[in-house]
Amino acid sequence: MEQQTIAEVNDKKLCTACGSAAIYTGSFVEFLCPNCNGDLIRRCEKCKNLSNNYKCKKCGFEGP
Ligand SMILES: [Zn+2]
Ligand SMILES: [Zn+2]
Repeated sequence: MEQQTIAEVNDKKLCTACGSAAIYTGSFVEFLCPNCNGDLIRRCEKCKNLSNNYKCKKCGFEGP
């Protein structure tokens, strides 16, 4: 049952750009890093509207 705690942490969909829990902020987009295809990038609606930069955790690619 203790494994549930880990699952909950992993389930939190954090915005890659601002780090807030994107799942609570309404609509958000998910896509694979256009550079390495190895990391899932997430952007909340706010960051999408502001065109905030995200940074891939795997290859360090930054993009709007
Ligand atoms: Zn955000
Ligand atoms: Zn990448």
